[in-house]
Amino acid sequence: MIPSVLPTYNRAPLEFVKGEGSWLVERDGRRFLDLGSGIAVNVLGHAHPDLVATLGEQAQKLWHVSNLYRIPEQERLADLLVEHTFADTVFFTNSGTEACELAVKMARKYWYEAGDPERVEIIASEGAFHGRSTAAIAAAGSEKMVKGFGPVLGGFTHLPWGDIAALRDAASDRTAAILIEPIQGEGGIRAMPDEDLRAIRAICDATGALLILDEVQCGMGRTGRLFAHEWAGITPDIMMVAKGIGGGFPLGAVLASEGAASGMTAGTHGSTYGGNPLGCAVGAKVVEIVAAPDFLAQVNARAGALRQKLEALVAAHPEVFEGVRGAGLMLGLVCKAPNTDVVRAGFDAQVITVPAADNVIRLLPPLNITEDEIATAVERLDAAATQIESALSSC
Ligand SMILES: *Cc1c(COP(=O)(O)O)cnc(C)c1O
Repeated sequence: MIPSVLPTYNRAPLEFVKGEGSWLVERDGRRFLDLGSGIAVNVLGHAHPDLVATLGEQAQKLWHVSNLYRIPEQERLADLLVEHTFADTVFFTNSGTEACELAVKMARKYWYEAGDPERVEIIASEGAFHGRSTAAIAAAGSEKMVKGFGPVLGGFTHLPWGDIAALRDAASDRTAAILIEPIQGEGGIRAMPDEDLRAIRAICDATGALLILDEVQCGMGRTGRLFAHEWAGITPDIMMVAKGIGGGFPLGAVLASEGAASGMTAGTHGSTYGGNPLGCAVGAKVVEIVAAPDFLAQVNARAGALRQKLEALVAAHPEVFEGVRGAGLMLGLVCKAPNTDVVRAGFDAQVITVPAADNVIRLLPPLNITEDEIATAVERLDAAATQIESALSSC
């Protein structure tokens, strides 16, 4: 019999009933160190007092009015994002998938309004993840995501990850946009080198194609800058944001330059919930905290400490781990043992990690994780690796 919850997820048999900072408490009372943050969402950990207060205050005032009216909390969050990024304008969604939908529509509408309605091609990457709507699965293109769901939305080309020469060959005056994650998350914490991001920007400049960056997972302070592309010194034309921006409240956004957004006039797009007062009040508090230079400096310091300890962990367990990759507090441990076994052994040691493609486990801790918590987390990963080694030697 089908469960009352549609069984589309493979869930671990864990039931968390409370969160405090970097910790999650299981129903049985065990305390887990959370290096997953609900997949890069809880950037300030669980139950951050400022976010709890902001949500509570807004909940007392006003939850929802719809976008038929001005929403001051939405305007304030948009102003903050414009102030801190390349963007001139922002549309709010409830998720990364919806941000992908608008990014694709916006790029195509741009060329339509420019008198080039056939210019709809979008070049994306193999191994990408952009969400689960029909446009987002078409943008990712893998058989695993599109198979069985009928005609795939057309106009997407997929090139091998990081093949800049192939991108240069493929981009033409038919290319509406190039869509890329600066660091692939689901794809296995694969970071695009800064010089390659600059080369992609140059290809866009040469062909006129718009650059769409998907920073749903790597953005919002995760790499030690507010957005990952800042390290490369480039700017996109359109950027998808979600996950961390709500700190746990469902919130996403599309950020765009005035030019790229020029086709999106009144009536061309909308969302009932998108940009609602609750989400935007919380989002503004998250951006205020995360964008502060001191906070980002602290992320970089913690990231350095974590990475150093992980290098030592890998060296101590060569049968379990192969290496560390990623940037900031978006790190991947490339495994030799099956990554799902390592995640499970982590559960036994009360540390939470998230599997990804390429036999990687992802470490996406809250950005305000403390140094002591980092030390404890790596001790627990060490215990997990030791458990795997003893299982290996006993078979
Ligand atoms: C999670 C994710 C998405 C989709 O976001 P949802 O909020 O799950 O719809 C899109 N792009 C990237 C890079 C992601 O990591």
